[in-house]
Amino acid sequence: MRTFLVAANWKMNKTPAEGLQFVEELLPQLQNPLHVQVILFPTILGSAPLAQKLQEIWKTRPELKKSFHWGAQNAHYEKNGAFTGETSMAVLQELGAKYVLVGHSERRTLFGEEGDLLAKKVATAQTQGLTPMLCVGETLEQRDKGQAKIIIEQQLKAGLARAQTQAPITIAYEPVWAIGTGRVAEPQQAEEVHQWIRAWLQENWGVEISSNTSILYGGSVSPQNARELSQKPNIDGFLVGGASLKSDSFSAIIHSKGV
Ligand code: PEP
Repeated sequence: MRTFLVAANWKMNKTPAEGLQFVEELLPQLQNPLHVQVILFPTILGSAPLAQKLQEIWKTRPELKKSFHWGAQNAHYEKNGAFTGETSMAVLQELGAKYVLVGHSERRTLFGEEGDLLAKKVATAQTQGLTPMLCVGETLEQRDKGQAKIIIEQQLKAGLARAQTQAPITIAYEPVWAIGTGRVAEPQQAEEVHQWIRAWLQENWGVEISSNTSILYGGSVSPQNARELSQKPNIDGFLVGGASLKSDSFSAIIHSKGV
């Protein structure tokens, strides 16, 4: 059984104090019990206080221990060493992270991350007990040329080349042309790609893994479009940028899935 995940990618937004304030505001809005998994991806320096805050929350609302987590937007694949400015997955694991984003399009385009580097990050995340969320997606030019699936297949093949098939993994389909642009993929357009990714997983990793792997959609998700997207059978959650910065809009997206 796969779970529906709603993740907030705060990117380089929110100070540690603002992150905590967001959680304070979000908490009373979360249904009890919560029917989806919620993940916050704060900045690296915002993670330690957030991790501590979640521990406190789990004590007073133990039901959230299973459904309210945090992850890192990026991490290095080596456990430790001379990598100035980097953060290891071992550190994240010790702080209580559950997820790590790998290959977000901003990491690919702004920081030149691709190929085997991403495969190593996926593999290290899994050995450290973190669930990698591998982001894939085509640019508008690639889509217009009819190359979307070729590009996504290349990204899947490269990113999963070193992955352990038995350890958990999640995939986020994020068409680059929909990220931060306000232009969301049509629900049927997104569903078609999700279905194709699931078929690819089935062909390469087998039916059990393909049916248990959550495939999230990301790209201008908002309270206005989330419900329709969430009704598609192969859309198993959202990776949300802009609309995750305000607790009200993020809460509306969390609850868009219904019961
Ligand atoms: C993202 O950065 O992963 C994202 C989907 O951003 P937005 O929701 O702002 O398009």
